[in-house]
Amino acid sequence: MPHRLLSNNRAWAAATHARDPGFFTRLAQQQSPRYMWIGCADSRVPANEITGLDPGEVFVHRNVANVVVHSDLNALSTIQFAVEHLKVEHIFVVGHYGCAGVRAAMRGIRVGLADNWLRHVQDVRLRHRKRLDHLPPDEQENVLCEMNVIEQVGNVALSTVIQDAWARGQKVSIHGWVYGLTDGLLKDLRVTMDHPDGVVPVFGAAIKRYPRVAAPSAGGSLRAGGDVEDDEEDESADTAPRR
Ligand SMILES: [Zn+2]
Repeated sequence: MPHRLLSNNRAWAAATHARDPGFFTRLAQQQSPRYMWIGCADSRVPANEITGLDPGEVFVHRNVANVVVHSDLNALSTIQFAVEHLKVEHIFVVGHYGCAGVRAAMRGIRVGLADNWLRHVQDVRLRHRKRLDHLPPDEQENVLCEMNVIEQVGNVALSTVIQDAWARGQKVSIHGWVYGLTDGLLKDLRVTMDHPDGVVPVFGAAIKRYPRVAAPSAGGSLRAGGDVEDDEEDESADTAPRR
């Protein structure tokens, strides 16, 4: 019942005040988070709890499947405020395994209006299909969760907000993480971008960690995913971020 939330709140406020009597007075003056979190709206992935941060320490933007689109004024405005006014030093794009949005995009499941939003994740799947198609279904979903994060890190890095920040010498790094619902652990996808010249090579290196053909088995060179020469010829098609 909603009443439970209000009584929970009163208990939390009292306990927080008892632990740190200046907590609310201090926070009411000014927020000065060093971190921004761009995550999925999924109720099981709350930024503060997972990272052990108090209110005031992380600036949060969440949407279905942690997508950053160049025409989404909501996300871009939030990033702009975080970078230009709060001067956050680190932005984390955080996906999670078992993401219903990514699963719908992977399997082509229609969910309604959100299909149009999840089209962006389907685009990621199509773009990297040669790195996905040869995997077992469960692994495809996990890998797409990771690839989606890598793509969104690239989108944040290529946004005018970040490009302008870097051009004026502001230090801000974009990181890609994925969260495990089953173990509560965050994994760093090693796709940190912190200067304009690093965007393309960092993106390419991250995507190339997912091979285009099945890993060789003990019995020989098992291949799925088609002609390897063709794969090599159009390698640049999916190892550069979209602009
Ligand atoms: Zn999700």
